[in-house]
Amino acid sequence: MRKDQAGLYIHIPFCKSKCGYCSFYSIKSLNLIPDFIDALNKEMKFYSELFTSFDTVYLGGGTPSLLSPQQLETILKTVGKFYRIDPHAEFTIEVNPGDVSLEYFRALRFLGINRLNIGIQSFDNSLLKFLGRRHSANDALASMKAARDAGFSNIGLDLIYGVQHQNIKSWENTLQKAITLKPEHISCYQLSLGQKTPLYQICQEQGMKLPSNEQQAKYFFTTSEILENAGYLHYEVSNFARQESLKSKHNMKYWQHAPYLGLGPAAHSFLRNKRWWNKSAVTRYIRDIFQDKIPVEDMENLTPAQLQFEALFLALRTHTGIDLNLYKTKYAIDLLEDKKSIIGSLINNNFLEIKNGFLRPTLAGMAVADSLALI
Ligand code: SF4
Repeated sequence: MRKDQAGLYIHIPFCKSKCGYCSFYSIKSLNLIPDFIDALNKEMKFYSELFTSFDTVYLGGGTPSLLSPQQLETILKTVGKFYRIDPHAEFTIEVNPGDVSLEYFRALRFLGINRLNIGIQSFDNSLLKFLGRRHSANDALASMKAARDAGFSNIGLDLIYGVQHQNIKSWENTLQKAITLKPEHISCYQLSLGQKTPLYQICQEQGMKLPSNEQQAKYFFTTSEILENAGYLHYEVSNFARQESLKSKHNMKYWQHAPYLGLGPAAHSFLRNKRWWNKSAVTRYIRDIFQDKIPVEDMENLTPAQLQFEALFLALRTHTGIDLNLYKTKYAIDLLEDKKSIIGSLINNNFLEIKNGFLRPTLAGMAVADSLALI
């Protein structure tokens, strides 16, 4: 994967029901899917000169697995019509355990999809219910088996920790269960509740609290220890891979500040010093495109200082960290000189380290990654 090669993200903004904690943009009006697909195919043409090739494609959502194989095929044929896709591209789709079957997975493989991200979240049924998920722990196990039987050899599982009602023991059980399934990739996200989510409102009304910072830290370090002991590389704050080559190549693009094109409602794009994002409303998105207008909500031009900050912020979420020579070449700044005192202090306090020309976070640094780049 070339660091400067762009990735393609396609947002499928439909869900059968909304999970109580979710802040992603999606709607339940599945009747809009056919018009959405027509609009999406047209949107691809808008960008066929700005972006010409991709080496990662990621179908996210929403719930992409609500689309039939025929609908996905229409989308992917249009992708192939307007862009060159690297023959070794990583090609991921997010799937909901409740929607899938062996036949469905076989059809995905036939379409050239070579990586799955299964939204399992937990193997504790009471927690799944609390989160508003519409699948059970058994559905999760069945989906994993069906995916393997269909021949998928690159599967990621999404899990959530730090949920009210959860305790560290239940989380450890979920992690152990995940390990026995031997997925190539595991993402462990700490629950954060946006104020507009139904679960936030319920928790406010019932006086339920999220775990304290201390408890969250315990979850984080326990997760890292259990998964590292099981042979996984803790390569980003929330992400673990069975080996280097199984890191999410698409998500690495975000952390490495590589360009990406986002298609579909609410999708974000980034190229050189520009970021833009689409309207977060399926109907407005479709209407704009049918009127031959790009459905962009807004865009921003990033200043060199903002680009530097972002590069640092994103890279310090990863175990690899930031390439000091590359940073110097790109921004004409010697980072170690520029931030000498604060970097020195973070190194002395075991939050950062320098290895082989990279400034990188220690495990303690990754635990507070959101604050590290404020240096
Ligand atoms: S399935 Fe995913 S995108 Fe849809 S509501 Fe649940 S968490 Fe959000």
